[in-house]
Amino acid sequence: MTEDAASPADPRYRRVVLKISGEGFVHAGERGISTDAVLHLARQTAAARIHGVEMAVVIGGGNILRGAQFTSGTSAVHEATAHYMGMLATVINGLALQDSLESLGCDTRLMTAMRIDGVAEPYLRRRARRHLEKGRIIILAAGTGSPFVTTDTAAAQRALELEADILLKATRVDGVYSDDPEKNPHAVLYSELSYDDVRRQNLRVMDPEAITKCMEYDMPILVFNFRKAGNIERAVRGERVGTRVHATRV
Ligand code: UDP
Repeated sequence: MTEDAASPADPRYRRVVLKISGEGFVHAGERGISTDAVLHLARQTAAARIHGVEMAVVIGGGNILRGAQFTSGTSAVHEATAHYMGMLATVINGLALQDSLESLGCDTRLMTAMRIDGVAEPYLRRRARRHLEKGRIIILAAGTGSPFVTTDTAAAQRALELEADILLKATRVDGVYSDDPEKNPHAVLYSELSYDDVRRQNLRVMDPEAITKCMEYDMPILVFNFRKAGNIERAVRGERVGTRVHATRV
């Protein structure tokens, strides 16, 4: 579809994967989990779902733990184990988001890439697609189920296998900048970028593995600020927000 196809009555996308980092589950500068931050996220996500777009949400865990904190040699916990701990952190966030969404009347399923019977379904592509077709928001936790990668890679992988129209990456800044906007006030915000621009300029969008996967299969990425009220809804509806990364610059 074209840019002009987006209008409030006619969302541009049929299916999206929304990646929410752990920082969405906590107030700025804090660690752990904050139930009101999660409810804020849930409200934005529920508002976006009203437009009929199928939504799969891939959850990060950096608010609790990232495996890379435990570099081999400095800890009795092996780095691989720490990555599994990081994946479990995403399940904690996923459970909180599920209940928060359901408190708002959304039909959801929590699916995990590692089996955690009793609290979540195992992730199965076909079943995930079926939930989406039935209008459920699926929450995908435990990343890829394998250590040494991040949930950005999981989000790219899920976007491809679920045949999403776009990967929406929710961050705490307005999009992709020429430099770190939190350190350099003169950093320029881009509205469009090609995958090549991102790689050549080494721009901070997602992990390199995730970018490579998206580039290889031409999966567009939208990087946008989830802290601005209404932005998840705008992104899901295909409105102009943040930075769009795709094959060629327009
Ligand atoms: N992780 C992993 N494999 C995956 C996804 C995540 O080992 O497929 C671990 C990894 O240690 C990562 C942590 O889980 O640092 C939490 O995920 P992430 O850092 O992506 O969370 P975010 O930065 O999005 O909050």
